[in-house]
Amino acid sequence: MNVKLDLLGDRQRTHYCGELRKEHARQTVFLAGWVDVRRDLGNLIFLDLRDHTGRTQIVCNPAISAEVHDKAEEIRAEYVVGVEGEVVVRAPGTVNPQLATGEVEVMARTLLVLNEAKTPPFPIEDETKTSEETRLRYRYLDLRRGRMQRNLRLRHRASEVVRAHLGEHGFQEIETPFMTRSTPEGARDYLVPSRLHHGRFYALPQSPQLFKQLLMIGGFDRYYQIVRCFRDEDLRADRQPEFTQIDIEMAFPQRDVLFDIIERLMEKLFALVDVTVERPFPRMAYDEGMEKYGSDKPHTGFSLEWKRVSLAADALEKVRVAQPIKAMRVPGWSGASRSQLDKLQETTKSLGADWFSYIKVTGPAPQSPLTKALGEPAVAALATSVEAQPGDLVLLLGIKSASSRDAFRMLDNASGELRLDIARKLELLEPGTWNFIWVVDFPMFEYDEKEKRFAAMHHPFTSPREEDLEKLETDPRAVKARAYDLVLNGSEIGGGSIRIHRQDIQRRVFKVLGLSEEQARERFGFFLNALEYGTPPHGGIALGHDRINALMAGESSIREVIAFPKTASAIDMMCDAPAGVEREQLFELGLVHEYEGGSCEECGGQWVFEYETIARGGSFSFAPPEVTCPVGGQRRVVLRYSGRWGAKHMHPTTRQWEVLRQFS
Ligand SMILES: [Zn+2]
Repeated sequence: MNVKLDLLGDRQRTHYCGELRKEHARQTVFLAGWVDVRRDLGNLIFLDLRDHTGRTQIVCNPAISAEVHDKAEEIRAEYVVGVEGEVVVRAPGTVNPQLATGEVEVMARTLLVLNEAKTPPFPIEDETKTSEETRLRYRYLDLRRGRMQRNLRLRHRASEVVRAHLGEHGFQEIETPFMTRSTPEGARDYLVPSRLHHGRFYALPQSPQLFKQLLMIGGFDRYYQIVRCFRDEDLRADRQPEFTQIDIEMAFPQRDVLFDIIERLMEKLFALVDVTVERPFPRMAYDEGMEKYGSDKPHTGFSLEWKRVSLAADALEKVRVAQPIKAMRVPGWSGASRSQLDKLQETTKSLGADWFSYIKVTGPAPQSPLTKALGEPAVAALATSVEAQPGDLVLLLGIKSASSRDAFRMLDNASGELRLDIARKLELLEPGTWNFIWVVDFPMFEYDEKEKRFAAMHHPFTSPREEDLEKLETDPRAVKARAYDLVLNGSEIGGGSIRIHRQDIQRRVFKVLGLSEEQARERFGFFLNALEYGTPPHGGIALGHDRINALMAGESSIREVIAFPKTASAIDMMCDAPAGVEREQLFELGLVHEYEGGSCEECGGQWVFEYETIARGGSFSFAPPEVTCPVGGQRRVVLRYSGRWGAKHMHPTTRQWEVLRQFS
């Protein structure tokens, strides 16, 4: 690469590369951008010049300028060039209907080569087969692709819509700190060590949950923020260690008012991609979702529904399965083959439901492996219980022995997965349909069978329903939370709750969660203090900005709507983060220590001293600390002490190490 480069000088673009039309004919224009494609037809060289708006065909004709043509011979894809020339209407046979600018081209009079480019590792085009790893390593090139341009520009407009809409409704955008304290919120925190306070850490927020509640206590009435959140989780396929939330909170909330604000926001957002959203969104109780859809984020875009049914008492003697079982009618699938049914059974087994059967409603007598044990009338009754019609298949799912409530939850989950599996197989998921639904009335607590204790299903600041307050201590399983999730096509795109604003109720909830007064104080002290100073009733929601944008853009991964995402193993391929740091930085942060050691002159054992930093040639204004050989009893001065230190001694005969001073 040794092309002579030109200077841009004071030249200004007159148009973008996607703008020129017939009506610009005979105008002199100056365009600049990247060379998308170069076609050398010998006497003529064509360049497709690209910027974020589109492409324009440039003609380099030696009859117009020999210099331009000479330069064009040197040019390759992704070179940055500027072109001055005249817009001409293309001859009828050469119009390119694929291109918005396809009716015109620019006859170059001047060609400025502003920068050269190495051959990119993959072609810059909308659809790509390049591995995601390579795309992420060269993200700056990947971002030039029209698809990424559209996705991120859509995201920008979505953010604008969010700000305008919430502003109209009196919400104030207020920033909350990224460097805060670690509070247990479910996932692991990212920690930031403190240089000034060794041994102490800031935590990056998993969400601004407590801060947004504090803003309500602080009298801001309505708050929002498009905010980054951080979770150090083992990443599942479509999670990011940092992600963006549209965080919303309001004082004196009525759930219906909040729902209406959010539904109107969704209406405006999806209008950006020409989708008409129907309001109001349906609402479904958590229990109903679990029964019918086997999910707390039900995909309601197709009509398959499970129903909990119980076998008659005498049937239970012949079929060993815990009650109730689940039954689902699959319309028109009575022709399902043996191997299809075997596959379904395998799937459900792997999901934890170990009892599987079916009924084929074909003629007057339904066919089922259960007929032999239960008899035809009982099988027919089962089919009737889910209103099966001739031609239908009825699937039955259960667990052989249910030792705990967990088992039934597993059955629900398995039924939900199976439902989605069948919908995919039978192609019941219609592209281009948008099924919003609010899931409400979540249980307040989940019982952790392993830990034998209750955990908050949302978070510990979620308010119980007012009518359930007296059941908090007596029947916590029955208490419903004032929590809600917003679900779109089976994806949870938001979740929130009305919060606890009274200290007495917060204390009772902590108690159910097994947190003592002291433990609660230790973890959330600052927040509990704030609750004592006139906290208004408040509540809110957090929407997943990344997920919403991915759905709007028609992308299945949120990485496609994030400019610089990390891989599923939390690595930034481009800048190679996380990365090592200079040892000096670790010392400054108090994260590594220096060691020195040697034999103990007294007993023949060994010493190891651990220092925060070793003072080199410094002198102590106080008496240096000492340690004593535990065998011989002789003192030894810790000479090179500076900051925190520790000492270990190894016994000369037993060779056991003894920590004489823990590093601190
Ligand atoms: Zn010793």
